[in-house]
This record gives sequence, structure tokens and C-alpha cells, in this order.
Amino acid sequence: MALGSRWASGLATGRFLPYGRQEISDEDVLAVTAALREPMITQGPLIEAFEQSVATYLGAKHVIAVSSGTAALHAAAFAARVGTDDRVAVPAITFAASANCVLYQGARPRFIDIDLESLNISEASLAERADDGTVAVVPVSFAGLPVDIDAVREAAPGRVVIEDACHALGAWRHGKPVGAPGGADITVFSLHPVKAMTTGEGGLAVTEDDELAWRLRMFRSHGIVRDRMSPGPLDGDWYYEMQELGFNYRITDVQCALGQSQLPRLDSWIKARNEIALRYRELLADESRVGLPPAGRGGDLHAYHLFVVRVRAGADARKRVFDGLRAGGIGTQVHYIPVYRLPYYRDRLGYPQDECPDAEAYYSGCVSLPMFPGLDDEDLRRVVAELGKQL
Ligand SMILES: *Cc1c(COP(=O)(O)O)cnc(C)c1O
Repeated sequence: MALGSRWASGLATGRFLPYGRQEISDEDVLAVTAALREPMITQGPLIEAFEQSVATYLGAKHVIAVSSGTAALHAAAFAARVGTDDRVAVPAITFAASANCVLYQGARPRFIDIDLESLNISEASLAERADDGTVAVVPVSFAGLPVDIDAVREAAPGRVVIEDACHALGAWRHGKPVGAPGGADITVFSLHPVKAMTTGEGGLAVTEDDELAWRLRMFRSHGIVRDRMSPGPLDGDWYYEMQELGFNYRITDVQCALGQSQLPRLDSWIKARNEIALRYRELLADESRVGLPPAGRGGDLHAYHLFVVRVRAGADARKRVFDGLRAGGIGTQVHYIPVYRLPYYRDRLGYPQDECPDAEAYYSGCVSLPMFPGLDDEDLRRVVAELGKQL
């Protein structure tokens, strides 16, 4: 792998190797500074231009860019008409935002166990736990491995499917980009710097449905529309209507200039992530005390936002590995604490702690290794050597 010497100097000095980081080129900087000199630094033409570029990349009809992946999830739950006292199925292993968007709408997440093969939502657990009040499902394409949307629809028929694809921009499912037609009703991406490409903060909601797209756009800007929808006089050109209680979830032209500049490099970054994953697999092939993450199935392209290994060397081994890697200057994280364990869910909302045994089994051993384009072979060997020391 001929991936950069950026970290080579860091190796000599033992510099901290993060678990993820963005790539910002000189062209990106130029694009952003040019955007800053435009008359409109927000709500100018660059937002729509970026949305169009992403739509073309995905082959999707509607792309709505917002201020974060979390905002996109919230807008999606709103657009799907998730409301008070509804229930929404969410896998137990994900970032809190996948479930929080349900609470924002006054509804309740229903945590579903994960499938230990794919680390995505368990269809069996979903079929069992999706009751009549469950109006939607938020499957997560965990670590960048596309969730099987057809299987989700089969397990929970008639529910709106909002795919949390925050890990999966640039991934492919059945030969098509995640976000292309034939997937979820709404697909959500994050453009946070740790994700595949970035706008600083930012998010995308993608849909083929005209009404969902209209509701997503309205929600992004206070629920305000310019067109007349209600009876009464059109008082003048200043006229607008607030039709729903929306938010200010707008993204800026400056951010979209960065996104537009990054997008052409997305595929090469996904390729680099796949090469790194392959190399980790080679380096860890003989290490029986570590379980490797699932690879993409035929027709799928894994985005490898994360490379999560499962430490199998006894009860304290995960903590030892985590602490040892950090002490050795290697960034690691645990993705994720089961959401129902977070004090807000456990103590304030009283969520049960014993309904997802496979999520618990996964959580007890998971550790994420550094994964971002720019890691070179020496970095990877250093990570694996440090990991081996702690087992
Ligand atoms: C990053 C992430 C989010 C939130 O995205 P932000 O852009 O940080 O708001 C939501 N869900 C998952 C699974 C994520 O990884």
C-alpha cells in the first residue's frame, strides 16, 4: 500500500494515531475561501449545486442537505410522520442519534437486538418485537456494511424505513450506491469529519418520494413555505406561511463548497479503506483471540467507516486492549455502548437492560482500530503489534 508518509514522522516520535481523520486538500481550502468571498455565504447557489452532485452520484431523485446527520435523522422522522406515542424500531448497537430522533418526535424507540454475523439489525428480533404501534424502522448500516433493506421490509412489513447510513456514504448494496432507488424510504448520511467525506458538520436526507422530500425541505427551515397553501389574502410579495413546527437545520454555502470539492475523491477513499481492511485481515489472520468484522457480501461494497474487532481473550481483555492501545499512542473507540444502557434511556426513561443478549455479547468485546485513508503499512503493523501485546 502506497498510502502517504504523513504518519511516518509520527511513528518515530510516537505521535498519536487517531482512529479516524479527514483529508483536506489545498483545492478544498481554495473552494471554501472562494465561497467565503461570494455575496451569499449561506442559502446561495452552492447548496443546491452540492445536492445535485450528490443526487447524480447516487442516482437519487431528491437530496436535501442539512446541518448534521442528526438533523437529517430528525427531519426524516418528521417527514415520515412519526408522532407522539408511536414506536420506532432501532438497533441497540448504534450512535445515540439513531434513537434520539424518535424521542424528538415524541415517540419511543424500541430497541432491537443485532445480528452477530452482520452486526446490523437482527431481522428475527425485529419480526418479534415490531408490534402494531411500531410505525417505522431505523436500520443502521453499521460500520459501512449495507443493511439488507429487503429483509428489513420483510421482517416489518408496511413500516416506513429510514436507513441510518451515516457510516455508509460510498457503500454499494446489490450493485447500486446506498441511497439509490430501491433502498429505504429515506436514507440519511452524515458529513461529520470522521465520516467518509465532510462538510465540517453536515448531513443529507435522500428520498425518491416527492412528498417526503417536500416535508424534509420545509422542516429544514422552520416549517416555512413561500407558496400559498392556506385560504386568505396573499398580502404581498413578503407573504410566507409557517405550516409546521420546523427548525433551523440549514447547511451553509461555505460547507457545501467543501462537500462539492470532496465528493470527487469519495470513491478513492472508499477504495483505500477497503485496502486497509484487507491488510488488517491479513495481519490478524492467525490471531485467534480476535474476531474480525464481517466483509461485504456479493454485490455489496463495504464503506469501512469503522474496523471493529472483537476481543475474545476473556472478561478483562477488552479493557486491557483499549487502555493498552491508547497508552501506546493509538486511537481507539468502543462503537457503541448499547443505547438502552445510556443513563438517559436507562434511568430517566426506564428502558430494560436485558432484552438484547447479542448486543451485550458484542459490546463486551468490541474495539475499533484506526481506519482512515492515509494510514500506511507501518501504521497498520504498529496497531496490530500493540493489539497483540495486550491479548
Ligand atoms: C455520525 C452518526 C450520526 C450523527 O451524525 P452527525 O452528523 O454527527 O450528527 C448518526 N448515526 C450514526 C450511526 C452516526 O455514526
